[in-house]
Amino acid sequence: MLRRTKILATLGPATDKPGVLEGLFKAGVDVVRMNFSHGSAQDHIDRANKIRELSKITGHRVGILADLQGPKIRIARFKDTKVILHEGQDFALDINLDPTAGDNTQVGITYEPLALEVKPGSRLLLDDGRIVLDVINVENMRVNCTVIVGGDLSNNKGINLLGGGLSAAALTEKDKEDIKTIGIMGCDYVAVSFPRCAEDLHEARRLLEAEGCYAGIVAKVERAEALDVMDEIILASDVVMVARGDLGVEIGDANLPAVQKKLIERTRELNRIAITATQMMESMIENAIPTRAEVFDVANAVYDGTDAIMLSAETASGKYPVKAVEAMDRICLEAEKQPRVRVSDHRVNIQFDRDDEAIAMSAMYMANHTKIKGIVALTESGSTPLWMSRISSGIPIFALSGEETTLGKVTLYRGVFPVYFKINPTHDHAEVNREIVKELRQWNRAADGDKFIITKGDLTGVKGGTNALKVVVVGQGLTP
Ligand code: PEP
Repeated sequence: MLRRTKILATLGPATDKPGVLEGLFKAGVDVVRMNFSHGSAQDHIDRANKIRELSKITGHRVGILADLQGPKIRIARFKDTKVILHEGQDFALDINLDPTAGDNTQVGITYEPLALEVKPGSRLLLDDGRIVLDVINVENMRVNCTVIVGGDLSNNKGINLLGGGLSAAALTEKDKEDIKTIGIMGCDYVAVSFPRCAEDLHEARRLLEAEGCYAGIVAKVERAEALDVMDEIILASDVVMVARGDLGVEIGDANLPAVQKKLIERTRELNRIAITATQMMESMIENAIPTRAEVFDVANAVYDGTDAIMLSAETASGKYPVKAVEAMDRICLEAEKQPRVRVSDHRVNIQFDRDDEAIAMSAMYMANHTKIKGIVALTESGSTPLWMSRISSGIPIFALSGEETTLGKVTLYRGVFPVYFKINPTHDHAEVNREIVKELRQWNRAADGDKFIITKGDLTGVKGGTNALKVVVVGQGLTP
């Protein structure tokens, strides 16, 4: 059985070790994430080249997602690398303090407006919420706090404001530099960290296009205020990431499950792609098997309808990167057998404006209600398989395209499998159908008697031209 839910693995030192990337490919990784918060431009370019090389060698196309660092607000450094904070003690964050001079009473910060954006009673969460500080007052750009939850605090840890409201712009100067690297490197998706509104995403798209990069835009939903403009953010992007790390800190962990479900549901309704990210297999950074709770988390994300699930430190720096992908693979495959993820009443009452969209929906209705082995969407832009994949189904969708950018993008779509296919413009429909079946046979996806749905246009290579739905039975007057 083909796994429908896509696995996204973050690259890092652990995947640079000999044989690990090959292991990830074998385990079925679909997309890799280059995290621009770490590593040099050359590291990312080298890794992207290696991924493209392995995609060619193995015939398994793996997409590339570049993740911009964004305005992560951080404390500066301590004289002794780390301090221990105790509940009830005073601790200050001071913009004017030497950035290397932190001790257990104070530390510098790199975000100038912090003192203007908090007030007495504001709650600050450091190191993903492990340390909690309440603001007592602000004096000359120095934020005086009381420690509510103490513990170890080390250099450069992140700061979040409970409830959100820090105004840092989504694209920093570093991000703008990294966009130039991304233009050289090439990738299928670019993730924007901490977007506040649609304009942050439009700006990223404009800057990327100026570098000749037409990657899909991923909105990482990780600020509380992004939830107030959820539709606007979803519509401005191609993909939405439920970035549970920072989002959980800002809105409180208990609110995350409901928000994850809502975000995935709304993203699918608006014909966009959803990624569920962070701590899905956290214990596998150290252990060879996941906890039962992690198994449930992955399966629940599949039930929620996510397109992709993401691994962060588990693959970037963990001890068992390949085993983490293998574990996700087996959990998804089992979860996808549940009848609830194979049926759909999505958009049954909708009036469609476009014929290609209506054909995509008709194909899914037919596939879900008759005995069909697979759906083949001949596609230029990838729109047809995108619409198809918004409908829950157990039937694989093969996206056949001669467009590399389209094939790269569909690596993230749930239930869609990219296949390179170039139409010979001198061939008629019957010949093209035969070639499609030949291609599927080559990939061991078709045998005599299997019934497939093929959607296509007038074979002109025009985007948005799908106007036909054809049913073919393999071996019945089709194959050479
Ligand atoms: C997150 O906060 O959940 C997230 C995905 O962002 P990052 O891994 O870049 O911190």
